Amino acid sequence: MKGEIKPILIHPNPILRQVSEPVDLALLNTPEFKKFLADMDATLKEKDGAGLAAPQIGVSQRVIVIGKRDNKSLFLINPQITRKSWGKIAGEEGCLSVVDSRGKIIYGVVERHKNITCQYYDPQGKKKKIQADDHLARVLQHEIDHINGILFIDHLIA
Ligand SMILES: [Zn+2]
Repeated sequence: MKGEIKPILIHPNPILRQVSEPVDLALLNTPEFKKFLADMDATLKEKDGAGLAAPQIGVSQRVIVIGKRDNKSLFLINPQITRKSWGKIAGEEGCLSVVDSRGKIIYGVVERHKNITCQYYDPQGKKKKIQADDHLARVLQHEIDHINGILFIDHLIA
């Protein structure tokens, strides 16, 4: 299904601060939900982001999408971090929703768990688990924060 590029909500839009609702898995096969995933994918690719969370396009639902090198994005529905490492690492992050007055992305340093395990449902409703390190672990933590109404600027260390 061909997706539409959606406008990205910009901080301080209040939708970015809402805790998103879990997706009703019974709706995964509806054309509306499939279109919504296609829209998220099209928007992520157009903006060339590492990841995108549904609230960033104004949908308060627990869905995130992560870009991959092979161009087949990874969709995570109702993602939950089930394990996180003690160890944290600092790294630079930016966000499509956090821009300066000229619309340029602002970057800052945030500490994230080095490794995490994340449980989620795929678009077919299959329960899955992913172990992520380093960059992917960081992107997942950033996007999962979004569906809890949290932005990276809330925990800047530099
Ligand atoms: Zn973001």
